[in-house]
Amino acid sequence: AAKQAGRDTLRYYSPEMNTQAMERLTLERDLRRALLDDPAQLVLYYQPQLDADTGRCIGCEALVRWRHPLRGLMLPGEFIGLAERSGLIVELGRWVLAEACAEQARWAAAGLLLPVSVNLSPVQLERSDLTPYVRGLVQRYQIAPGMLELELTEGALMNEDARYLEVFHALMQLGCRFALDDFGTGYSSLSRLKRFPINRLKIDRAFVSTLPGGGDDEAVVRATLSMARDMGMDVVAEGVETAEQQLSLLAMGCTQMQGYRFARPLPAAELYHFVARLPQAQSSG
Ligand code: C2E
Ligand code: MG
Ligand code: MG
Ligand code: MG
Repeated sequence: AAKQAGRDTLRYYSPEMNTQAMERLTLERDLRRALLDDPAQLVLYYQPQLDADTGRCIGCEALVRWRHPLRGLMLPGEFIGLAERSGLIVELGRWVLAEACAEQARWAAAGLLLPVSVNLSPVQLERSDLTPYVRGLVQRYQIAPGMLELELTEGALMNEDARYLEVFHALMQLGCRFALDDFGTGYSSLSRLKRFPINRLKIDRAFVSTLPGGGDDEAVVRATLSMARDMGMDVVAEGVETAEQQLSLLAMGCTQMQGYRFARPLPAAELYHFVARLPQAQSSG
């Protein structure tokens, strides 16, 4: 037993575990410092969304990156989870919202009116100060109705609290639109979906990647499109990488697309030039 306990103790204090815990703490401290003292470490990339029917850019999704002084450019998969667990997501989420609105205003000043979608963590929606914060941004940057879309995953619809639903409606009153991200991967029922003011479904790239296949994934895409039509929602396909996927989606009646086929997430200036270079060059109006 002593030997067993000794082994367990040894495992508990194994150097790898210490290293992992230390790394997490270090990263959390670094993120807190970045948010407080050096927000220039954070940067938003923007991935265009196109209407493949008209070739026009219909919007873009803001995707956060972290230029860590030692680790280099970090993707959200490497720090969003940590930010959520530590509560730093609230501050990070505010920075993302503010920066996306500021960028949209800069584009507007340069003649480009482009809706921006921002990913929201459920933690942010549970905070009572989200609505006043967004109201402040809408006023400060003169965000027109429909120009700011908030992306949520299905997990964010699991909260039954009436106050939670009120936040949705308050944000909608401010002119925000809502998109359901990674659609098809969660467990939200139709009845639940109907209770929330969702404007758009984003079909997860897992279903897009196997197109055209004629199998289950294609059936999910078809069902999503028909349900969205009935419920008056738009649909955008995520992760479109190939011409075959694009054609298959178009044949099914899905015209809104986002993916490497068109562009990777781009720094703000490159996004601006990407849109300006489109055959159907776009300007304000
Ligand atoms: P998401 O919201 O589903 O964003 C789409 C992700 O798919 C992005 O990854 C994008 O770069 C990637 N992607 C786009 N087109 C393609 C494609 O054709 N093929 C493939 N293989 N991938 C494609 P990214 O930027 O690494 O972001 C990952 C996730 O991190 C996002 O998934 C979102 O859930 C989260 N995230 C990003 N920015 C934020 C943020 O500001 N706040 C919060 N709370 N979450 C964020
Ligand atoms: Mg998203
Ligand atoms: Mg997604
Ligand atoms: Mg995702």
